[in-house]
Amino acid sequence: MTNAGLIKLTRFYLRKHGLLDQIEIKIGRRKTEFGTCYWKGGKPTRIELSEVLLPRMPFADVKDTILHEIAHALDVKKRGYSNHDWRWKLIAQSIGARPVRYGNSSGYRRESARYQVECVNCGTVTRRLFKAGARSINANARRRCAACGPELGKLQIFDTEKSAYVL
Ligand SMILES: [Zn+2]
Ligand SMILES: [Zn+2]
Repeated sequence: MTNAGLIKLTRFYLRKHGLLDQIEIKIGRRKTEFGTCYWKGGKPTRIELSEVLLPRMPFADVKDTILHEIAHALDVKKRGYSNHDWRWKLIAQSIGARPVRYGNSSGYRRESARYQVECVNCGTVTRRLFKAGARSINANARRRCAACGPELGKLQIFDTEKSAYVL
């Protein structure tokens, strides 16, 4: 996809979700992030997309990246900030984006791993798994997210195919 095509597609979805005049689109040269949503003073301001990474991705993934960032922008409009927690996931699902985090190119390559271990509080993904059996569920039940601590930072396994937590 060309940069012009990328901008056109992003404008289409921004318009669809009522954000067209509020958000600037930047095509950047970042090599580790597919897309980034910026905000300031509790309002979404800019979506940056990587012209290095996106043109190499299949169309469905480009579209998903755009919707992922739009979900962040809608989330910011609601509560003034955004991360990958359940609130963002609900918005992502409602607009047709996969409710999963894949913030960088190494994460993308491992995206075929069906399960991701993530913090239920902030959504940070600590590892990816191809299988989620009783052993890994038990092991992760004892671990905690470093940023959120022992009280809030419970880790749970998210099934990216079913878009649901494995219990
Ligand atoms: Zn994100
Ligand atoms: Zn956390």
